Amino acid sequence: MIALKNCFCVMTGVPAGANDSGRSCAAGGDLFGVDILIEGNRIQKIGNNLHIPAGATIIDASRHVVLPGLVNTHHHFYQTLTRNLPGAQDAKLFDWLTYLYDIWKYLDPEAVYWSSMLAMAELAKTGCTLSSDHHYLYPANFAGDIPTLQFKAADDVGLRFAPTRGSMCRSKKDGGLPPDSTVQDEDTILAHSEETIRKFHDAAPDAMHKVSLAPCSPFSVNESLMRRTAELGRKYGVRLHTHLAETSDEDVYCIEMYGRRPLQLMEDCGLIGPDVWYAHGIYFNDEELDVLARTKTGVAHCPASNARLGSGIARVREMLDKGIPVGLAVDGSASNDSSDMLGEVRQALLLQRIRYGSHGITAREVLSIATKGGAGILGYDQLGTITEGAIADIALFNVMKLEYAGALSDPVAALVFSGYNHGVDHLIVNGKQVVSSGSLVNANEEEILANAEKAAKRLYAKAGIL
Ligand SMILES: [Zn+2]
Repeated sequence: MIALKNCFCVMTGVPAGANDSGRSCAAGGDLFGVDILIEGNRIQKIGNNLHIPAGATIIDASRHVVLPGLVNTHHHFYQTLTRNLPGAQDAKLFDWLTYLYDIWKYLDPEAVYWSSMLAMAELAKTGCTLSSDHHYLYPANFAGDIPTLQFKAADDVGLRFAPTRGSMCRSKKDGGLPPDSTVQDEDTILAHSEETIRKFHDAAPDAMHKVSLAPCSPFSVNESLMRRTAELGRKYGVRLHTHLAETSDEDVYCIEMYGRRPLQLMEDCGLIGPDVWYAHGIYFNDEELDVLARTKTGVAHCPASNARLGSGIARVREMLDKGIPVGLAVDGSASNDSSDMLGEVRQALLLQRIRYGSHGITAREVLSIATKGGAGILGYDQLGTITEGAIADIALFNVMKLEYAGALSDPVAALVFSGYNHGVDHLIVNGKQVVSSGSLVNANEEEILANAEKAAKRLYAKAGIL
């Protein structure tokens, strides 16, 4: 049992008035000065001066803003080893990919495991309790099973993990972007996708492991793989994902290669619907936004990556107004180049306001996207609130620091508008502490650092760079 004592401020994630425990504020259902009791993986009780049973782990939360755990809906963990490479710092997407594929093709099992540990460590330390990952690169002669390595890393950090089994089958020789040694044939991909679902997918609302299927993008797979992947996903009731509408180059490519715009292609392949979410979604036109709204297809918004690659600004304001499900994502670390989850929340607010002005989006809206919104598009309908009976995925940020002084008239919004150190003091996933006093509980941070650096250097040496 864990007791959060005397919480300075709790963002419940439900509207004011819907909660009768403690004092709520007009800003949106926040609670002040309450205790939260966690038993098993659920929040058992919220209230003032609760009786704390003997033996409970007590966390003094009197300096903290307590948030539902943040949710990351799109990432490429392996890219943590190739962030900030001089050869890719200033390239746009297609050039950036072409340069990096020739390094990524040397990925080995150690690199996959330690890059996953590194990404999830960073995510956990910045408030993320649930993450997806999109690993689509399966190099020839890879001596290991990539999902097995990634799920082990998630368990070793303690994060809730809902990755995709990604795929690429269209290499340079077929008019795609990736080199031949990084792609697989359709039958191999589908057989391994099925095996991965059977081995790891758990459909329960509080599952620590889920699996989705994710053909990489229209420029690295073919139509047949997209169709067959959608069919396989639906057979098992797992979700589907892909990159879509990230750049205007993609529009040109799809019209030349398929004779259609990217979203039309997805519709024709069955890769659309309430069980599908796309990464980026910048270049949807008005008509296409209506299609997303009608089909309830989700979008993983990746503001830092979109800005870093100069790709553009997604129309998130309009998506929200139309009722399109939206989640937040840090995206791969070669285009962010960090896994700073709370930092991404701030990026989302700033980027929308560049597009739409000062009323473009509120702090509450971006936090809602980053919690409940993301959980929904990953298939978790019960995450994203701090209420009695809810699953205990919780992030505690210490706001009694210089950077928040003077900003605490609205403590929840202070996390978005102020601050520069985005680390949590404590993180609870499924009722268990994953970060305590700012450090990982289950994994050794120095060991992750040393092994990730070693794997990165090995990759650079094999690729003959630096
Ligand atoms: Zn991506």
